[in-house]
Amino acid sequence: MSELSDDDIKQLASRLCAAQSDLEKQLKLGEEASSVVTLDQSKVGRVSRMDAMQQQQMALSTLTKTRQRLMRIKAALNAINTGDYGYCRRCDEEIGLPRLMAQPEAPLCISCQSLSDNQQ
Ligand SMILES: [Zn+2]
Repeated sequence: MSELSDDDIKQLASRLCAAQSDLEKQLKLGEEASSVVTLDQSKVGRVSRMDAMQQQQMALSTLTKTRQRLMRIKAALNAINTGDYGYCRRCDEEIGLPRLMAQPEAPLCISCQSLSDNQQ
């Protein structure tokens, strides 16, 4: 059994749901913004085209991060449904309530997370 109480899980689940709808909104806005940049490129000069491309790169990298976070959030919500929530996906140890409170979508415990950070 996990150390997480039903109340903890309820609280974390509602934060995950809120974060999910937030990120979905951000993604929608971001996708619209980056397609606007693409359309503008035909109309602007070389320097502003470089600017636009840089802006688009930034927008795309933000989008990628947002998508990755959204995937972790969906995986966490899914794990709540299946009763696997709160366990590290690498070592199967409990992730721990303080870490989950700070980052409800965390898929790894602190030691596995620092291992995978070091590998990058
Ligand atoms: Zn672990």
